[in-house]
Amino acid sequence: MPAFKTQTISGWGRFPQAEAQLYRPERTSEIKTILREHTQAALIARGNGRSYGDASLNSGNGVVLTERVNRFLAFDETTGLVTCEAGVLLKDILDVFLPRGWFLPVTPGTKFPTIGGSVACDVHGKNHHGAGSISRHVEFLDLLLASGEIVRCSQTENSDLFWATAGGMGLTGIILTVALRLQRIETAYISVDFVRTRNLDETIELCEARDDSYRYSVCWIDCLASGNALGRGVLMWGEHARLDQLPSRLAKNPLQSRKKRDVTVPFTFPNWAINPLTVKLFNFGYYHQHPKERNGAIVDYDTYFYPLDSVLEWNKIYGSRGFVQYQCAFPLEVSRKALTQTLEVLSRHGLASFLAVLKRFGPQEGLLSFPLPGYTLALDIPFNNPNLLETLNRLDALVVAEGGRIYLGKDARMSAGHFAQMYPNLEKWRAIKRKVDPENVFSSDLSRRIGLSEF
Ligand SMILES: Cc1cc2nc3c(=O)[nH]c(=O)nc-3n(C[C@H](O)[C@H](O)[C@H](O)COP(=O)(O)OP(=O)(O)OC[C@H]3O[C@@H](n4cnc5c(N)ncnc54)[C@H](O)[C@@H]3O)c2cc1C
Repeated sequence: MPAFKTQTISGWGRFPQAEAQLYRPERTSEIKTILREHTQAALIARGNGRSYGDASLNSGNGVVLTERVNRFLAFDETTGLVTCEAGVLLKDILDVFLPRGWFLPVTPGTKFPTIGGSVACDVHGKNHHGAGSISRHVEFLDLLLASGEIVRCSQTENSDLFWATAGGMGLTGIILTVALRLQRIETAYISVDFVRTRNLDETIELCEARDDSYRYSVCWIDCLASGNALGRGVLMWGEHARLDQLPSRLAKNPLQSRKKRDVTVPFTFPNWAINPLTVKLFNFGYYHQHPKERNGAIVDYDTYFYPLDSVLEWNKIYGSRGFVQYQCAFPLEVSRKALTQTLEVLSRHGLASFLAVLKRFGPQEGLLSFPLPGYTLALDIPFNNPNLLETLNRLDALVVAEGGRIYLGKDARMSAGHFAQMYPNLEKWRAIKRKVDPENVFSSDLSRRIGLSEF
């Protein structure tokens, strides 16, 4: 019988928490044994716990940690195709391949997720408007099904299963191996153009006018600004810097950005530490710290893509009750109106968010993948507001009414009723799930809460 350890775990938001039975296999063959011999009613894979809510939790059931199943298996220097086990971190890929001139084709705002978890959430990055989400760059993946069979899936081979697994939140099986196409780069730096915008209209107008000219685009939004300044922010467009764009001191070692010392948040902050006043001060300072416009700033890739990763365990600043990330997306035609309404609700209820990020999405494959052509807004909100859950539930209704959706990789509280109205391919996905996992061996707290596995 494979050994497990009973432990309380959570996602990155530290809400909710769940006691589960954790397996920690060292290799793929042990994962197969766990699947064959586990004693719990259900199993779910867990990568590095960087999804915010309950996607990798399984109360009273089994959780298969992939952190030790993390070997590189192959690399093709001519095409940039890397094949690795599911527990390899995005950071591992960068550490090994960036010095050789290769970068991730798509990256979320942290480099600590595993590649398996990234495919299961079908993560998007600042280049979604042009590059789509990570699944578009996956050459193939090997999936362990509930039956014990291992199936290779790609966009051309077992493609139904591929598109049900990319964004399928671990519910079609356990991803064992991923082959990912990396992109060529000349330097470890990004050339960034900044513009400080006055309000949401200007933010969206500039995104529409200029996003297509850049590989990367993201806008930090001051979500506590109101009235004429509602939706003001700092737009940051980026391109991988070419060698001839680097100043000579950086050009000597173009693929080696200087290592900064990481700091760790040493303890859990009190629950009142993040409040409307501290957030307002932070937002005001951040907004005014940027010039009205600046072009061609050269920043290292960590600063541009992973500003939060340099503060390890930063989730502790939200206090012992944790926080939720609310990330919604709206179709293009209603984005301006729906985002205005969302920001007004947040501002009215004083729901403080240090971090509010707006991005433009392009077209998207994947039955349960989150992006849709339009705009997405992501907000981190602490649990120190008694109206939080009720307000977010009301916002969900607005998202449904406008044809939008909530990101499962961030969600910790959405209702099954709202979820069912957000994902139009849900029944197609369920039909595939029914075929490959008729007994619901793979389920999680998330899947039960939002009724994903109910056939
Ligand atoms: C600071 C920060 C910034 C972020 N920015 C973004 C962003 O810009 N864009 C974005 O899309 N996401 C973003 N995220 C979310 C995060 O990138 C994703 O949730 C990611 O998928 C987490 O990977 P993980 O390995 O930690 O997976 P976990 O959180 O452990 O699991 C997530 C899901 O993947 C499943 N899973 C994990 N491994 C496997 C496997 N081997 N086989 C099958 N299923 C598996 C789990 O069952 C679960 O459903 C961010 C998160 C943080 C903390």
